[in-house]
Amino acid sequence: MKKVNVLGVNFDNQSFNEFQNEFIDRLNNHLSTLIVTANPEIVMAARQNPEFLNLINHDADFVTADGIGVVQAAKILGTPLKERVTGYDLFAWLMHVAELRSLRVYLIGAKPEVIAAVQDKVEREYPHIELVGCEDGYFSDSLETVAQRIAQAQPDLVFAAIGYPRQEELLAILRQAAVPALMMGVGGSFDVFSGQVKRAPRAFQRTHLEWFYRLLKNPTRLKRMTVLPKFVGQVERTKWHDRKHGHKK
Ligand code: UDP
Repeated sequence: MKKVNVLGVNFDNQSFNEFQNEFIDRLNNHLSTLIVTANPEIVMAARQNPEFLNLINHDADFVTADGIGVVQAAKILGTPLKERVTGYDLFAWLMHVAELRSLRVYLIGAKPEVIAAVQDKVEREYPHIELVGCEDGYFSDSLETVAQRIAQAQPDLVFAAIGYPRQEELLAILRQAAVPALMMGVGGSFDVFSGQVKRAPRAFQRTHLEWFYRLLKNPTRLKRMTVLPKFVGQVERTKWHDRKHGHKK
């Protein structure tokens, strides 16, 4: 099955490796490409926000399952997804691709000190990347103005880390204008990339408890995490509804 619907969001059922091949293909052909990496929070937000849902299902070229919660939900619903494909892993890999191919990269998002640390790291460790834009995510310009600035820099890759749904809204403006770049919203990835926030130790990642590690490190996330049981509840309800009406998708 090529698309898997989880609570209204259409995910692409592809492995990390399959996504990699498609992205390389689109980069080679200079195609305008919007990638959304959707986690349970994003799915729940999209259910409340029809414009955001429309953006994900219609403007995005690819939607990946960012988080084990989405993968488990798909399984419960009887339409399993191949694997979890996180925004951070895609970002890290695409930065390597950019380095190997001396690509033009635009980075926007995170706090000024974080983006400064990101810039340092790119200049040190990715000397062949041409950073055509590097700015923090606390701008007062409209998204349209920022989008124009990005388009003028003619990037091959754009990563926006200003939180959902704004990062996707910004990139959708560029996608609608067919700006020939590969674009992805990457949430808190710059914080991790810069070393300001550590990714969970391997043991947590392996046992799919990365979210728990983040909660321990940053208890203010608890409020945001209350959406997770709601997500699970909705998945269960959808499963029972589908069973009752005899359609196993
Ligand atoms: N952020 C930003 N501008 C804003 C609000 C947030 O650049 O107006 C940044 C914030 O500094 C962080 C990222 O957006 O680096 C969002 O991170 P969060 O952990 O909320 O996202 P997640 O990875 O959970 O989607």
